[in-house]
Order: sequence, then C-alpha cells, then structure tokens
Amino acid sequence: MATMESLIGLVNRIQRACTVLGDHGGDSALPTLWEALPSVAVVGGQSSGKSSVLESIVGRDFLPRGSGIVTRRPLVLQLHKTEQGLEEYAEFLHLPKKKFTDFAMVRKEIQEETDRMTGRSKQISPIPIHLSIYSPNGKVDVLPFYQAPVVNLTLIDLPGLTKVAVEGQPESIVQDIEIMVRSYVEKPNCVILAITPANQDIATSDAIKLAREVDPTGDRTFGVLTKLDLMDKGTNALDVLEGRAYRLQHPWVGIVNRSQSDINKNVDMIAARRREREFFANSPDYGHLASKMGSEYLAKLLSKHLEAVIKARLPGILSLINKSIDEIETELDYLGRPVAIDAGAQLYTILELCRAFERIFKEHLDGGRPGGDRIYGVFDHQLPSALRKLPFDRHLSLQNIRKVVSEADGYQPHLVAPEQGYRRLIDSALNYFRGPAEASVDAVHFILKELVRRSIAETQELKRFPTLQGELAAAANEALERFREDGKKTTMRLVDMESSYLTVDFFRKLPQEVEKGGNQAAASSGDRYSEGHFRRIGLNVSSYVGMVSETLKNTIPKLQYAKRLELYKSARDEIDSVSWSR
Ligand code: GDP
Ligand code: MG
Repeated sequence: MATMESLIGLVNRIQRACTVLGDHGGDSALPTLWEALPSVAVVGGQSSGKSSVLESIVGRDFLPRGSGIVTRRPLVLQLHKTEQGLEEYAEFLHLPKKKFTDFAMVRKEIQEETDRMTGRSKQISPIPIHLSIYSPNGKVDVLPFYQAPVVNLTLIDLPGLTKVAVEGQPESIVQDIEIMVRSYVEKPNCVILAITPANQDIATSDAIKLAREVDPTGDRTFGVLTKLDLMDKGTNALDVLEGRAYRLQHPWVGIVNRSQSDINKNVDMIAARRREREFFANSPDYGHLASKMGSEYLAKLLSKHLEAVIKARLPGILSLINKSIDEIETELDYLGRPVAIDAGAQLYTILELCRAFERIFKEHLDGGRPGGDRIYGVFDHQLPSALRKLPFDRHLSLQNIRKVVSEADGYQPHLVAPEQGYRRLIDSALNYFRGPAEASVDAVHFILKELVRRSIAETQELKRFPTLQGELAAAANEALERFREDGKKTTMRLVDMESSYLTVDFFRKLPQEVEKGGNQAAASSGDRYSEGHFRRIGLNVSSYVGMVSETLKNTIPKLQYAKRLELYKSARDEIDSVSWSR
C-alpha cells in the first residue's frame, strides 16, 4: 500500500503540474497527461445539489450554493495532502501566492472571479476557475478524501443543465451549458457523479440521460440521489437506491445535504454530517442500507474506484509520460532549446540569432529569396527613365539659351566662347539631376527597409524572442536611415563634381566660332547674336549634359552597391553592440 500511495502521490503531482502548465486536455496537439489522469465531475440539473455533494465529499464549506444558476463557470478543484505545517489553506491559480485560510473568503473569491468573467448577469463562461486546497497530513480533522488511500485528486463543479433560458440569459444558454458539461464528461478519464434529486422522477433525470450518452457501459458513472429528506411522506427511493429503477454498474448512493435553511443558519459541515448519519440510521426505509449511504461513504467509494482506475492505467500513464517526453523533445528541437542562464552563453545565442537574420537578409539581396531584384529595377529602369524625362529640351531652347547667355555676359562682348553663359546653362541643367538621383536613393532605401522587415519575420529562430526581434529591427532601420542620408549626400556630391569640372580645358576644347568667323571684329559682333551661334552653344551644352547623364547612370548604382556593402558591416556592428548591451 505504501508504494501505491507514493505512486498516487506522483500522479497527483503530475496532475498539479498539468494545471500549472496549462495542460487541461483538449486542443493540444501533444498527448495530454491530464486526459490520462482521472478526475471527478458532478453533472445534473440546476439546483440538484451538485455543489453541495462536492463540498460534502471534500468536507469543507467553500462553494457558492443556492437556488437559481449559482455555478456559472467550471471550478476545477485539486486536493493536496502536505507534509509540512498544520494549517489548511486554499490557493487560486489566478491569484498565485495568496493563501486563503478562511474558506468563507474562498467562496467570496469564487463568486467574484465568476462575476469578473461573466458580469453580474446570469451568463456562463466555459473558462474554468482553478482552486487547490492544501491539507496537512498531521491535521486531526482531515478531509474525508485524505482518510482514504487515494488522496489528492481533481474534482470539477459544473453549471447545472437547464431547460429554458430565464430572464436576462441568451437563448443559446441551454445548449451552451450542455456543450460545456459534455466537454468535461465525455473524456474517458472523467468519473461522473450523476446527481439526481430524490424528489424528482428518475426517468426525467438530465444527469442520467447525459451520463448514459457519454458512458454507455456505466463504467465511470456513479448515481447519486440527493434530497432524500425532501421526499413526500409515504414515499421512498428504494427502487432507485437498490438498482431496480435504473441499473448502474456501480451502486447508487443516497445523500442528505444541508437544506437552504441550514445554509442560511450556517449549519457547519460536522453537524451536517452527523445529521446525515442519523437520518439514515434512524430511517425505517433506509436503515438496512445505512452503511452504504451518505457523503462519507460516497467519498470512500470514489477513492476505491480511483485507486483501481489508477492501478489499471498506470502502465498506460507511464508510457504516455515517456512518449510525451519524446514528443516534447522533438517539439523543443523545433521551437529551440531553452536559453542558457549565464551571460556568455546568452550572448552566443544572440549572435547566432543575428547571424540567422543576416543570412536571410543576404539571400534576399543576392538571390535565393525574392526582393533584391527590385533594387536592380531601380537602376536598370527607374533611374534611366527618370533621367530621360528631364526637361532639357525646354532648358536648351534657342530662346532660353539666348536669354541666359545675354544676361550672363551682359554688356561685356566676349571674344571666344561665352564662358559665363556656358557655366550658367550647365549648372542649371545639372541641377535637374538632383531630383532623380535623390529619388533613386529613396527607392533603394524603401526596398532595403522592406527586406529587413521580411527577413526578421522569416527568421524562425527569432520568433520566440520578440524583444530581440524589436531591437534588431530598430538597429537595422537606424542604420538604413543613416545610409539614406549618407547616400543622398554622396550622390549630390557626384552631381556637384560634374558641374565644377568645367575647367579651362573644357573651354579650350569647344569648337572656336571666332576662328570660323574669320577673326574680324565686325563679323564677330554680327555673328555673336546669330541663331547659329546659340544653336552651337545649345549643342555643346547638350552633349556635355548627355555625357554627365551617362556617367551618373553608372556611378549612382556603383555608389549604392558600395553603400549596401557598408550596410552589412554596419548592421553587424550595430547588432554586436545591441547584443553586448543586453
Ligand atoms: P447545484 O445547483 O446543483 O450546485 O445545487 P446546490 O448545491 O447549489 O443546491 C441547491 C439548493 O438545494 C441549495 O439551497 C441546497 O441547500 C439545497 N439542497 C441540496 N441538496 C439538498 C439535500 O440533500 N436536502 C435538502 N433539504 N436541500 C438540499
Ligand atoms: Mg452549483
């Protein structure tokens, strides 16, 4: 028995771990331990006495009871036997570290926590409240369950099944409750306490109806008949209790809980127990069954059943634990191992993560992943077509050339090429390049920014580190922003360089119209304002501008590729500095 007890203790600790880790069965892809371990749920119509029965088995007053829909969320109760201390206390999962020693406060908290989720209306919620009760081994007045071999186990209080929605409830409530209750009792690990009040015909019992549906063989259903004290005089429930009215695998148990007036008068559990015992002992109808009736007997019966269930399931539970460990290991490999605690190993992990990001970013730029080709698009298509669209026709129209040259040279007649005129025409023509050059830097910037965003999202390993993800995005964007500014400055410098390149040499190389004019002052002064003269100036400026345009078409991409390489390096530095500072 000692080994059995320690095994049961193990099972209970697993169950507790399941609760803390959020394994309540259901939608997890992994096999759940919760579903392999037995739990006990009460099922029945509204006000049939479910909460009262549960309290009575546990031997403590802590559940809200009464008429109407009192239990509106599932309550998952776990009983634990502790080795230390003498004081019994309760703890809620939603209020960790708060010890309740006053059970009236536990009831109050259940009510308030129910209201928090459902509002004060008569709504229900399927989200369970988790409560644990810790009872010291040495305490004299131990819970009935602790007297039996099977100790800590899980008990679930559920809202009662109803037939109609009452004032303030949505029409769907009848079905909602049934679905919720069903989700607990259909699990094969669930022992069903099917509660039916004795003052109701067994044929109309919702509890029995549902239990039969989910447990047709009746292996895990216990029929409980409450309110035996409320039966009409002259009638009794022997037909049911002796299994003649409705046969179940396990024997029926009759119960007498506290009445509403007992609750109002604060009759305590011990007095209630005594009264229940007396009721059966002194009853002419049930006297012969007295030793097999009542809450204490029900607690013992359940304990024995659970012990048998655990014994039978133990090999299965053990293999499930091993299987779970294997599957969890696989899952962990996929999700990533736990992060080491010491700073050195953490740093290593962070650098690994950054490298994973960098690898993906590089694939986007250099191929393997899409997006990088859009940068080529900017240079191959966007920039050249923007350069082509610049309004040089208008700028180099005869009319404009005449205006600019005449204004520049003023009354100083020039002998050779009108230098000031050339300078002004070329300067203002080159100014037009600024727009497209800047726009191409911006276009590349936005593509890179998008690629950083995508790369971060695509780095699987980063998924479970949202903070690092944020830092990395911020660092990369900061670097990109800086390079946008740098890129613009350098590109503008390229443009400026071309306009300051107008050296003496340049003018010397221009076709010398004066010579063509025969070097005569009169001829030259007449020629100076001729259409041919301005057209020649226009052609010269235009060919110069064309040359610059070709140069920029090639140098701007070169510049930005160089910048991109720098981005790599700087992003790396940035990442390094981020990881060191964390
Ligand atoms: P639940 O809605 O099924 O959880 O039922 P409760 O446990 O809240 O009980 C509903 C009402 O029935 C309360 O007023 C209880 O006092 C009363 N009640 C429950 N069981 C018995 C019983 O065996 N005898 C008497 N007289 N009243 C009972
Ligand atoms: Mg209830």
